[in-house]
Amino acid sequence: MVPIAEPSAGVVTDASTTDVIDGLDYWRTLPIKQQPAWPDPSAVQAASAEIAALPPLVFAGEVDTLRERLAAAARGDAFLLQGGDCAETFAGATADQIRDRVKTILQMAVVLTYGASVPVIKMGRMAGQFAKPRSSDSETRDGVTLPAYRGDIVNGYDFTPESRRADPARLVKGYHTSASTINLIRAFTQGGFADLRQVHSWNRGFASNPANAAYEHLAKEIDKAIRFMEAAGADFDELKRVEFYTSHEGLLMDYERPMTRIDSRTGDPYVLSSHFVWIGERTRDLDGAHVDFLSRVRNPIGVKLGPSTTPDDMLRLIDVLDPDREPGRLTFITRMGAGKIRESLPPLLEAIKGADATPLWVSDPMHGNGLTTPTGYKTRRFEEIMDEVKGFFEAHRAAGTHPGGIHIELTGDDVTECLGGSEHIDEATLATRYESLCDPRLNHMQSLELAFLVAEELAAN
Ligand code: PEP
Ligand code: MN
Repeated sequence: MVPIAEPSAGVVTDASTTDVIDGLDYWRTLPIKQQPAWPDPSAVQAASAEIAALPPLVFAGEVDTLRERLAAAARGDAFLLQGGDCAETFAGATADQIRDRVKTILQMAVVLTYGASVPVIKMGRMAGQFAKPRSSDSETRDGVTLPAYRGDIVNGYDFTPESRRADPARLVKGYHTSASTINLIRAFTQGGFADLRQVHSWNRGFASNPANAAYEHLAKEIDKAIRFMEAAGADFDELKRVEFYTSHEGLLMDYERPMTRIDSRTGDPYVLSSHFVWIGERTRDLDGAHVDFLSRVRNPIGVKLGPSTTPDDMLRLIDVLDPDREPGRLTFITRMGAGKIRESLPPLLEAIKGADATPLWVSDPMHGNGLTTPTGYKTRRFEEIMDEVKGFFEAHRAAGTHPGGIHIELTGDDVTECLGGSEHIDEATLATRYESLCDPRLNHMQSLELAFLVAEELAAN
C-alpha cells in the first residue's frame, strides 16, 4: 500500500485519488444490484469527479463518536431512534418540512428518554436518503413502459420518458440538497431550537388527541424537573444542544464512492455522505459489491434483515462486516413483519448468543408490513407496526439480548399514508393527504403514539 501524504490534523482527503487503499475499489469487480442504467457514462464520471472534489458532509470524528454511542446501545445502555422519509425528495427539502421532521424526532426522543430513563441516540433518515432500491427495473402504466423511479438522486417521479431518464446532474444536486439539509439540522440542534426548555413548543395539534395530551402532560413534568434543578443551581449546557446524526441507505455507488474520503488522523476510509449507512434487504448478498465496499470503510454500518435470513447468513455478515468485533460497528435492523417476527427473530438471537459478537439490534417495523388497498394505495396498518415492535421486544426478553433501537419511516406532516392510529385513518381517508413517492410513513401523531408504546416496552424491559 502506497503511503498517503500526511495532511494537517482533521483534514480529510479525497479518496478517489488514493486507490492506494487496499481493495477500496474491489467492489467494481463484483456483482452489483440496484444501480441505474445511466444513458451517458462519461457524464456520470464527470458528476462523480465533481462530487469527489466537494467537501465531506460530516466529519470522521463525529462518525467515531456515533460508533461509541451505538456500542452503548448494543450493551443496553442507550437506545437508537432512527427515523425519516422512505425517500427524501428535492422538493421536500424545505425549511418547514425539515423542521417538522426534526421536531417529531425530538418529541419521540423526549418520550423515550423520560419514559424509560435511557439516553436516546437521535438519527434522521435525512440529508441523503435519496436513492431507492426497486422490485422492478421498469414500470408500466396503460401499456407504456418506462424505467422505475429510483429516487430523486437518479431520476424524476413524473411518468414521462424525459423525467424517468437517469440524469447524472441529479447526483450533484443530491449532494447540495443533502448539504443544505444537514446545515439546517445542525442549526436547529445546536442553535437553541432543540433546547429542552422548548419541549412544549415542539408539540402541535389538538390536546384532545390522546398522544398529544399525553405528550403535554409529560412536557409539564419535564418543565417542573428543569425548574427544580435550575432553582437548585444546576447549570445545564447539555439541555441546550442535542447530538443528531444522519443516515441513509448506502446504495448508489456513483455517489457513495466519491463521498468516501481518507481521514488524515488515521489514514482510514470513511463514507462522509452521512454518519451511518445501511445495506438494504435487496443488496446484502455476501459476495456482492455493497457488502464488500462497506466492509472497508470505518463508519458504523447497518444491515436490514428480512424474514428469510438464516443464522448462517447472519454469522457470515458479521465475519465480513465486523471481523474485529468492534463495539458499535454493526447494527442489524430486523424487518420481519408482524406475522413473522415471533418466529424469525428468535433463531437469530439464539445464534448470536453462541457467537462472540454483540451487534446492535434495531426494529424496523415498517418494511415487513406493507399492503396495497383495492384502490391502489401502498399502505401499512398502524396496529401491525405496533405489533411487530412488541414482538421484537418479546423476542429479546425471551433471549436475554438487548432491544437497542427502532427504525421508522415518518414525517412531521399530518399525512394520511398509514391506516389506523388514534385519528382512525381508514382506506377512504388515505386519499386526503397521501404524499409519499415511495413507502407510506407514520404521520406526526402516529409517530408520537409509537414512541409511547416503545417507552412502555423499554420501561418494562
Ligand atoms: C427502506 O428502508 O426504505 C427499504 C427499502 O428497506 P428494505 O431494504 O428493508 O426493504
Ligand atoms: Mn421504505
